[in-house]
Amino acid sequence: MKTASKPSPFTKTLDSWPEARIRGLITKATDADVTRALRRDILQAEDLAALLSPAAALRLEEMARLAHRQTRRQFGRIIGLYVPIYLSNICAADCTYCAYACHSGQEGERRTLTPGEIRTECETLAAHGFQNLLLLTGDHPQAAPLDYIVQAVAIAREYFPGVSVEIYALKEEEYRRLVDAGLEGVTLYMETYHRETYAQVHLKGRKKDYAARLGAIEAAGHAGVRRLSIGALLGLCDWRLDGFWTALHARYLQKECWQSAVAVSFPRLFKVPPRHTIAHPLSDKELVQLMLALRLFLPEAGFNLSTRERPGLRDRLIHLGVTMMSAGSSTRPGGYSHLGDSALEQFEPVDRRTPEEVVAAIRRAGYDPVWKDFDRAFVE
Ligand code: SF4
Repeated sequence: MKTASKPSPFTKTLDSWPEARIRGLITKATDADVTRALRRDILQAEDLAALLSPAAALRLEEMARLAHRQTRRQFGRIIGLYVPIYLSNICAADCTYCAYACHSGQEGERRTLTPGEIRTECETLAAHGFQNLLLLTGDHPQAAPLDYIVQAVAIAREYFPGVSVEIYALKEEEYRRLVDAGLEGVTLYMETYHRETYAQVHLKGRKKDYAARLGAIEAAGHAGVRRLSIGALLGLCDWRLDGFWTALHARYLQKECWQSAVAVSFPRLFKVPPRHTIAHPLSDKELVQLMLALRLFLPEAGFNLSTRERPGLRDRLIHLGVTMMSAGSSTRPGGYSHLGDSALEQFEPVDRRTPEEVVAAIRRAGYDPVWKDFDRAFVE
């Protein structure tokens, strides 16, 4: 299968914001720059740099109050819920940070769910009340070809009104086939926008192609995918740089794919295969600053938070801009119905609470957990 090949016009924006220019703004940002950014209704890129700067780290409480207000105004008191199904952990790519990589050296069964097994997993999750599902695969043309993913989406739609995929980059006409099968959302992380780092951690497979990956998410939007989620894998590169580029990308997509709702995820690397070292770990406080800065720059974007984070931190982040949370996740193919108990998992979820416990925590925080898709209502 071929991947997207047309360069994204967003490449020009990226080229106009090289690392040195962003670092220059961030390093020089003063308290007055932060104040100016906090007073603006619509933030410019220079304001974003100020909010990502060390100067803004001293103003987090103020940023949190504003971010909270923005999120309430835009999304109300609701947190959407979703759950992932890993369809396959077989992967021909070699991303150094990932347990599924073909040369990760990680032990565990490699398997791809059959159509019957997909059904069983869907039934198990639908019984919990979930209505938004995310289907994931590795990057392997034989183990999980497009026809298989089309079939998986069609099966999942029998159980869930909202079905998204997190798979390899496709071309527009390929996304259209998924839309025709009932697909609503695509999650596609750039992982890092920093080209040198990107080349260092993506050693093999289609994912090596930076341009194809960058262009794929807007191809999905042009194909009629109504929910687009992007993000950087936090820890690969300086969070301030990737945060800056992610925010620009989200704003670009909001204009370019105006019929789609754009969301940002904040996956943070913790446990990685032994061959990978997390070069740029970020603290909880830095994660909070990143989310606040992006919330103020992107008031209309959804924010997704996965079970990679600790329960206590997830509960606190509800107040700071999060709009969608996963719950009760397994990262093994067949992990919900015990079909895949010996299957290799992609990463170990840290928040191990049941969906019911996460729902209770959302309620305690003063929010309404929403099983159905409120993003769709927002777009329409
Ligand atoms: S990140 Fe995705 S493409 Fe890369 S090795 Fe893991 S599953 Fe494969």
